Amino acid sequence: MSCDLDIAKCFDFVKELTLQAGKILKCGKDEKIIYNKNKGDFVTNYDQQIEKIFIDGLSKEFPDHKIIAEETVAAMQKMPELTDAPTWFLDPLDGTINFMHSFPYFSISIALMVSKVLVLGIIYNPSNSEFYSAIKGKGVFLNGKPIHVSNITDLKQAMIAINVPVIKQVKTDKDVTRAIALIEATQTCTGPGVHSTLDIFAIDKLLKPWDVASGMLLILEAGGTVIDSNGGAYDIMKANTIAAANETLAREVSKIIVDTDLKTKEKNKKNLT
Ligand SMILES: [Mg+2]
Repeated sequence: MSCDLDIAKCFDFVKELTLQAGKILKCGKDEKIIYNKNKGDFVTNYDQQIEKIFIDGLSKEFPDHKIIAEETVAAMQKMPELTDAPTWFLDPLDGTINFMHSFPYFSISIALMVSKVLVLGIIYNPSNSEFYSAIKGKGVFLNGKPIHVSNITDLKQAMIAINVPVIKQVKTDKDVTRAIALIEATQTCTGPGVHSTLDIFAIDKLLKPWDVASGMLLILEAGGTVIDSNGGAYDIMKANTIAAANETLAREVSKIIVDTDLKTKEKNKKNLT
């Protein structure tokens, strides 16, 4: 890792940028102009405005840093390669559909990786003023107070958020069967998606690095575990994600996913013969 990079300075700079950008999202005074990126994948003028604020600010302050940002990548239609250079991951507006409906669960998500190691992360929901932040090795904070993962290790006691958008968009047997198995094994979140009080979050396919970079560092710094859905090492560039309060829960969820996928495969094979 580059030793001469002042992570605290990077954090202070991006914290200020995030709070400023959050004010724009919170007011939402201008008309929301909505574009359809892909089927069921929307972008608004606010996503674009917030992304521009970050790109302009970061490029000026840290001209040698790279930025992997959602709307820029969407426009280029190509994911940049991850290198050892300091790289910012930005989701200017995570939860665009919620924002479109003025449903107050959306956030700005920004993280910095150096030599492929996450060193800082911020997630800010301006609607309810929840500001999550972490610097590697220094813990995770919600509005300045340290927070930690739960100590639940019994899957039946654990609250999970799962892959509803994938079921809507992909509609394969595999995804539906997985979802049912996970819902049966846990206490399923029926509310507005991801939140710090969840014990487990499991989602495949749709996530991109800007969706997961900051959240991954927050979970690790809070004492949690992030693994690939198949139980292997996690790669934010291919984000098949199980994030959990601890390794026990993560491994059990992975086992359910691997077992149900295998059963679906065998069932589909039988149906073909
Ligand atoms: Mg977004």
